[in-house]
Amino acid sequence: MSHAPTKSAKPWEGDNHSPGFARLDHEPFPQFEAGWVWLVGAGPGAPGLMSLLAYHAMQNCDVVVYDALVNPDILRWVRVGAELEYAGKRGGKPSPVQRDISERLIDLARAGKRVLRLKGGDPFMFGRGGEESQTLAKAGVPFRIVPGITAGVGGLAYAGIPATHRDTNHAVIFLTGHDATGRMPANVNWAAIATAAPVIVMYMAVKNLGEIAAVLQANGRPADDPVTILSNASMPSQQVASTTLAGAGAYVAANEPPTPAIVVVGHASDWRSLLDWYGPSLRENPIG
Ligand code: SAH
Repeated sequence: MSHAPTKSAKPWEGDNHSPGFARLDHEPFPQFEAGWVWLVGAGPGAPGLMSLLAYHAMQNCDVVVYDALVNPDILRWVRVGAELEYAGKRGGKPSPVQRDISERLIDLARAGKRVLRLKGGDPFMFGRGGEESQTLAKAGVPFRIVPGITAGVGGLAYAGIPATHRDTNHAVIFLTGHDATGRMPANVNWAAIATAAPVIVMYMAVKNLGEIAAVLQANGRPADDPVTILSNASMPSQQVASTTLAGAGAYVAANEPPTPAIVVVGHASDWRSLLDWYGPSLRENPIG
């Protein structure tokens, strides 16, 4: 699906500031200065999960460079007149390489624009925000990081899964399910990860889940450990699937759960039976 903005359909045009936010206009927000890049987390999906600084940035930028994970509904809060640039896969073309995106941010900043780099979740959480800000820093381009709610915490909350709970886990591991090549990451200590924490929250893990589950089990993780696959967290299209570590690979192969999806291993998911609050009537609200 392309999230490319269309010029024609902008029902929000002319309604730049929604009335509810007008009272923030006089708050001493940091100024978004020309030639700066703000790397902003948009949260996992629900527009209401953006921060006030993120909203402020949207109202004061010249250009938004956004990636594929950003919910397009959020983009209607961008100031009228700001340019929107998509930096993800489009029309089957491969995604632009990271270097190109970083170079683009530098070019826009040097052209005197106020550049809003909008990323899904939190920019520093498996979001390449580290790489992008590194390139900006080396190029001498001033930047600010606006953290966002990461899918592996805030997204889980929408499924009634607390990332930590005194009765289930005093620690949690955040793990990526693939490295730059798309394969299961080789440079993590699987033997340690398998048993180090009662809960493992995995990003980008659906494709390699069978392989990851096998390695975890081979390193001592119980075969009957619950596995929850949470797709489109915080969105009306949110879906949750439950399986076990032993069954995870076959489940994914047979059911192809929608992505983006977070995979949770461990008994944190048991709380869902009690805490699953995001029901059908709540999903009708477009903000969150
Ligand atoms: N910076 C982002 C993560 C980027 S990596 C963050 O902090 O959330 C991309 C991965 O994030 C996806 O493969 C998926 O595992 C996860 N993800 C992002 N948004 C999601 C959502 N709404 N529902 C489920 N998973 C999501």
